[in-house]
Amino acid sequence: MKEIVCKLLVVGAGPSGYVCAIRAGQLGLDTVIVEAVKPGGTCLNVGCIPSKALIHAADEFGVTRQMLTGKNAMGIRVEAASIDLSKTIAWKDGIVGRLNAGVTALLQKAKVKIVHGRAAFRDGKTVEVETETGMQVIRAETVVIATGSEPVELGALPFGGQVISSTEALSLTEVPNKLVVVGGGYIGLELGTAFAKLGSEVTIIEAMQQILPQYDGDLVRPVSRRLGELGVRVLTGAKAKALSDDGDGLTVETSDGHVKLFPADRVLVTVGRRPRIAGSGIEELDLDRSGPYLRIDDQCRTSMRGVYAIGDITGEPMLAHRAMAQGEMVAEIVAGRKRAWDKRCIPAICFTDPEIVTAGLSPDEARQQGYTIRVGQFPFSANGRAMTMVSEDGFVRVVARTDTGLVLGLQAVGAGVSELSASFALAIEMGTRLEDLAGTIHAHPTRSEAVQEAALKALGHALHI
Ligand SMILES: Cc1cc2nc3c(=O)[nH]c(=O)nc-3n(C[C@H](O)[C@H](O)[C@H](O)COP(=O)(O)OP(=O)(O)OC[C@H]3O[C@@H](n4cnc5c(N)ncnc54)[C@H](O)[C@@H]3O)c2cc1C
Repeated sequence: MKEIVCKLLVVGAGPSGYVCAIRAGQLGLDTVIVEAVKPGGTCLNVGCIPSKALIHAADEFGVTRQMLTGKNAMGIRVEAASIDLSKTIAWKDGIVGRLNAGVTALLQKAKVKIVHGRAAFRDGKTVEVETETGMQVIRAETVVIATGSEPVELGALPFGGQVISSTEALSLTEVPNKLVVVGGGYIGLELGTAFAKLGSEVTIIEAMQQILPQYDGDLVRPVSRRLGELGVRVLTGAKAKALSDDGDGLTVETSDGHVKLFPADRVLVTVGRRPRIAGSGIEELDLDRSGPYLRIDDQCRTSMRGVYAIGDITGEPMLAHRAMAQGEMVAEIVAGRKRAWDKRCIPAICFTDPEIVTAGLSPDEARQQGYTIRVGQFPFSANGRAMTMVSEDGFVRVVARTDTGLVLGLQAVGAGVSELSASFALAIEMGTRLEDLAGTIHAHPTRSEAVQEAALKALGHALHI
C-alpha cells in the first residue's frame, strides 16, 4: 500500500475543490487533490456548463423555428429547420472535454498532485483511495472536504428508465415528444424551457403556488409569460404521485385535489440537491451539521480541528461561484493569511427565458430586515437596445436605503441580463449609493443603461420614462 504525506488534502475536484487546490499550489503548499470522476465536478461535467450549452443550442433552434413561420417583424424567413440532438450533445461534450483538460492543466501548473479514485475517510486526516494502480493512503496536516451535492430522488419516482435527473437530461440524444418536469426551480425551468424550444411538449409540475418560489412575483411574471408563449403547461400547487401502471405517464394530484394522468416519454425530476456526505466515511467523522449540510464558521472550518468544508456540502446557495470563492479563501487561510467570509452578496442567475439576476436584498427582504427603502424600477420597453433585440419584456430594479441612498439590492429580469450580474455585485461590494449608479456614464445603446435609469428613478428623476 502506497502512502503520501502532504500539507493539504482536498477531497473532490469540483469548483470549490479545484480552485482551493490551485490557489494552495500557487501559495507553495504541498497539495494533493482526489477526484472520483472527472475534474470540474458537477458544474463543469453535468451542471452549469453543459446546461448552458444546451440552452444556447435550444435558443438558436427556437429562433430559427420561429423564422419558419415568417412571423417576425424583421422580415426573415427560413424554409426548413431541423436539429440532430446527438450532434448537439457531441458539441457540448467537446466543450466539457476542453474544460476538463484545462482544469487538469491548471492543477499541474500549480504543482498539485492529482489522485484519481474515490476517497474513503479513515479518520479526519487520513483517506484511502482505490486507484487504478492499487490502494493509496493519503495523510495530511489539513483536509478540505469538497465532495459537493447530488440530485434528490423522490421515493415514488426513483431514477431509472424514463425517470431521469438533470444529469441524464443533459445527455439525451433524442428530443422527447412529451416531457414532464417535476420541480419548477431554476434547474427544472432552464431544462424544461430548452426542451420546449427543441420541440418537446413540456409540462412543469410544481408543489408550491409559484414557479421559482424564492423570487418575487414581479421577477417571475415575464418567465411565466414566455413559458405560455412556448406552449409549456405549468401546474402549480400540484404533486407528482407515481408513474402510471403501463409506465407511459405520470399521475399528478392537481391543486383542486383531482388525480390526473400526464402522458410522458421522460419524467425529469429536479426537486433539489442534497450534500454528498454518505458513503465516503464523512458521516463517521461525526462533524457538526447545519440541517443536512456540514456546519462551517466564517472561515469554512468544521467542528474538527484542521478539517475545512467548502462548496455545496456546506449548504445554500449551492452555486459554483460561491464554492470557488470559499475554495480560494480556505487555501489562503491554510497558507497563513488572515481571511474570513466578508462578502456582501452572492449574485444568483436563472438562465430561463428571459433570464433573472439578483444580488443583495429584494424589496421584501430589505423591509423584513428593518430598512426603510426606496425602489427604482426601469422597464426594458423604454430601452432602445432591448427594442432592437426584440426583447422588451422585463426590467431592472434597484433597492436602496431611503436615508443614505446605499444600494442594498439589484434585480433584473430580461433577455441577456445575466451579464449585468458583475456590475450588480460590484455595486453592492463597493458600497455604492444611488447617486454613484446614476452618475456613472453607461454606454449607449446597451441594456445596462436601465441600471442607471433605475437609480435615477429611485432618486425621482428618471430621464427616459
Ligand atoms: C443542471 C445544473 C445546472 C447548474 N447551473 C449552475 C449555474 O448556472 N451556475 C452556478 O453557479 N451553479 C450551477 N449549478 C450548481 C453547481 O454545479 C454547484 O453549485 C457546484 O458544482 C458546486 O461545486 P462543489 O465543488 O461544491 O461540488 P461538485 O461540483 O459537486 O464537485 C464535487 C466533486 O467531488 C467529487 N467527489 C465526491 N465524493 C468524492 C470522494 N469520496 N472522493 C473523491 N471525489 C469525490 C465528485 O465526483 C465531484 O467531482 C448547477 C447544477 C446543476 C445540477
